Amino acid sequence: MSRLDEPLVARMRGFGTTIFTEMTQLAVHHGAVNLGQGFPDDDPPPAVLDAAKDALDEGLNQYAPGPGLPRLRRAIVDHQHRFAGQRVDPDTEVSVTFGATEAVASAVLALCEPGDEVLVLEPTYDAYLAVIALAGARAVPVALTPPPFADGEVTTAPWTLDVDRLAAAVTPRTRLLLLNTPHNPTGTVLDLATLDAIAAVCVANDLLVVTDEVYEHLVYDGAHVPIAMRPGMAERTVTVSSAGKTFSATGWKIGWAIAPPALTAAVRATKQFLSFSGGTPLQAAVAVALASPDGTYARVAEVHRARRDLLVDGLAGLGLGVTRSAATYFVTADVRAFGVDDAERFCREAPERVGVGAVPVSAFLSRPPTEPLQRALVRFAFCKSDAVIEDGLARLARAPTAFAGHGT
Ligand code: PMP
Ligand code: GLN
Repeated sequence: MSRLDEPLVARMRGFGTTIFTEMTQLAVHHGAVNLGQGFPDDDPPPAVLDAAKDALDEGLNQYAPGPGLPRLRRAIVDHQHRFAGQRVDPDTEVSVTFGATEAVASAVLALCEPGDEVLVLEPTYDAYLAVIALAGARAVPVALTPPPFADGEVTTAPWTLDVDRLAAAVTPRTRLLLLNTPHNPTGTVLDLATLDAIAAVCVANDLLVVTDEVYEHLVYDGAHVPIAMRPGMAERTVTVSSAGKTFSATGWKIGWAIAPPALTAAVRATKQFLSFSGGTPLQAAVAVALASPDGTYARVAEVHRARRDLLVDGLAGLGLGVTRSAATYFVTADVRAFGVDDAERFCREAPERVGVGAVPVSAFLSRPPTEPLQRALVRFAFCKSDAVIEDGLARLARAPTAFAGHGT
């Protein structure tokens, strides 16, 4: 056998092509309405776009310093103080990254030895499992419990974390908790009591924490609290966020990691060899974006709250059980009312049969689902214009007929 027959390292086999790429390709191929991959239809606010254009004219076209443009690090510090009440130092506690994805990757690669265990909430964002594998570490999923779904009904109950389960998953090899709140794909915001119980487990077991908070401003019910602000947590936490969701700029890939100096030094040690630095003019524009008035942040949440309700009420009207998610771009829905038990099959076939793209929740699980509900859940994205959501709903109305007689 030649090395060319199987060039990919063993630990990366099995990840295949990401579900987002796969489902977007299918949607494009079939001309479907794409309620799968989470990217908005909108452009960033005009002032932010102007700032990006100005930065090109200003000549910001060469490498930024490895930790990020000083003006952006200062803007991140101000933003973190304004919205989280956390005071951090721009020189020793903030690193600009190529999106939240690189921030998480840099942290995991910097902090985990081969064989270390990393706790993740399940369902789990796919990039976490891949980067844990790249580090040679082992992901230990801790399942979130879904709320009850009833056909044709909207539930506002969140997916919940049983923190005793998290505590029971800790072993002497556990190094890190990789947290995500507000959570993709469930749209759940972990509440204060849960965060404090998680914090107690982390402190008691001396765990490091990487927390992905990219949806921090897309919260519609309740409040997002950064775990770094809970007792004993700031010193052990890497807080990750990104401009992508907040400013409708997912293609810009400007993210950041906030952590105390020793953890920041570790993150920078790996980050410098992943991309060194990137997107200099966009870094300058994000510095302007982060300084936006409170109203700009409130508006993006308002717009998405209305879109959420349009999609949720429409899906319930079509007979599905669906969550009115407290946050993010996403809702989860049980598609069995369409006559399909297997969400994965639904998502593979829906672009062609009904002209809608979506993502199965099972793609966020570390092994195939055994529970009928878990098997039947679909994640729909609502970060789209009203017209696109309405078109998607009109197409989905054909699903029971389109899937009739095609088995489950
Ligand atoms: N984390 C989560 C939970 C996400 O849903 C996404 C993408 N939507 C990312 C990270 C990626 O962020 P970025 O594009 O800034 O790398
Ligand atoms: N985070 C986006 C989602 O959950 C997708 C990002 C990607 O395609 N990697 O839909």
